[in-house]
Amino acid sequence: MQDSATVVSPQLPKIAWGRGLYLHDTDGKVYLDGSSGPAVYCIGHGNAEVNEAIKAQLDRVAHGYRYSFTSDPLEELTEIITRRCAEGGGEGLERMVFVSGGSEAVESCLKIALQYQSARGAHTRHKFIARQRSWHGNTLGALSCSGFAARREPFEGSLLDVPLLSPVNSYRPPKGVAAEDVAQWCADELEREILRQGPERIAAFIFEPVVGAAGGCVPAPPGYAAKVREICDRYEVVMIADEVMCGSGRCGTWRALQHDGVVPDVMSVAKGLAAGYMPLGAAVYHRRIGEVIEAAHGAVSTGHTFTGHTAACAAGVAVQRIVEREKLVEKVAAEGPLLHRLLGEALEGVEAVGDIRGRGFFQAVELVADRETKEPFPAELQVHLRVRQAALDRGLICYPVGGNVDGRRGDHVILAPPYNVTEAELAEITGRLGEAVRAVVAEVSGRA
Ligand code: PMP
Repeated sequence: MQDSATVVSPQLPKIAWGRGLYLHDTDGKVYLDGSSGPAVYCIGHGNAEVNEAIKAQLDRVAHGYRYSFTSDPLEELTEIITRRCAEGGGEGLERMVFVSGGSEAVESCLKIALQYQSARGAHTRHKFIARQRSWHGNTLGALSCSGFAARREPFEGSLLDVPLLSPVNSYRPPKGVAAEDVAQWCADELEREILRQGPERIAAFIFEPVVGAAGGCVPAPPGYAAKVREICDRYEVVMIADEVMCGSGRCGTWRALQHDGVVPDVMSVAKGLAAGYMPLGAAVYHRRIGEVIEAAHGAVSTGHTFTGHTAACAAGVAVQRIVEREKLVEKVAAEGPLLHRLLGEALEGVEAVGDIRGRGFFQAVELVADRETKEPFPAELQVHLRVRQAALDRGLICYPVGGNVDGRRGDHVILAPPYNVTEAELAEITGRLGEAVRAVVAEVSGRA
């Protein structure tokens, strides 16, 4: 998580312009964007087609207020998401609220779950369950569900009481659990917690299908999501998939959970949806959830002034048309293994590499002081931030992730290139990251 003020983070440069995978600052320095910023710019920078679509929309009207108007972009984006979900086995994910980003999307998902429970007469189901080492956003509800200690700490007394389950990570299984038992053990833990709290008190379970900003591209082991689906069904708990970071094609399927053959009740998307051309996110919910809410309350009670912002939806439509026309999700699926292999090759022989993992164009390396014991580097070394700086020195943008590993800080670096990256650029990105990691490891070795 890129939140620490730190000695290894100098004053930020000023952005000037960007094209494709390259960003330029006002001093003329050029950066290769190996992580799409925070896994956002999935078609690269300065795309003329998207810019034209936004300008054309602005020339017509910037914003039709949601209580007065719907719009062509809003309706087309709804149709595209519905279709993309249905193509991946997620038929019925067809209701949606468009918001301005990931936190708002998650917040809306949480409220849709609450409203659904209340609409069906389950008036005591107010509680959420979430997981440690997860990140769902910075608004109070989303933060309450986030297992990220450093970010929660200043607000701890004001957060909702959300039980946080063990992280689902085969590289770092819960104590005493074998890697191959992680899926079953963690699903059992969810069931135990629901029973401990009393199912009649639980509104929803929220999780990231592939953990991003709080863990470094950690896919749940095979079978976990399907077990969660069964448990949520058994106890009438709403299943919320937070796909803000791992969704919109980033993992090689349009929905990340598509890979697991699982359909959530409610799903958040944001980052890649409009690829940073406009602030945009969405809370997508299943028809059966919508129908219950509509029968009782008429409509979902969530939304903001800029909900369904017309120019933002136009940006989303333009980006998604390109992603679909150029078969970029298929490209990510095909080339994800190449990115993984290149990353491995670039880090070949580096003792500090604990784990390399991820899915599609969402790959990360976890760096450790001791590969055998998986002991992280001491927190004060801020190895992940040193890697970010060393990469920047080599003109590469990557996404560092710190955060608690077994109560201590851990160091991870994410690569999440734009989907339309070339193979030569993938080699360049991984090569520069390899150099940066080697330089940092040499710098800190002997200090761990
Ligand atoms: N959920 C996930 C999984 C995220 O990765 C993020 C952002 N990193 C958010 C929610 C919050 O999104 P935003 O920063 O756009 O509010």
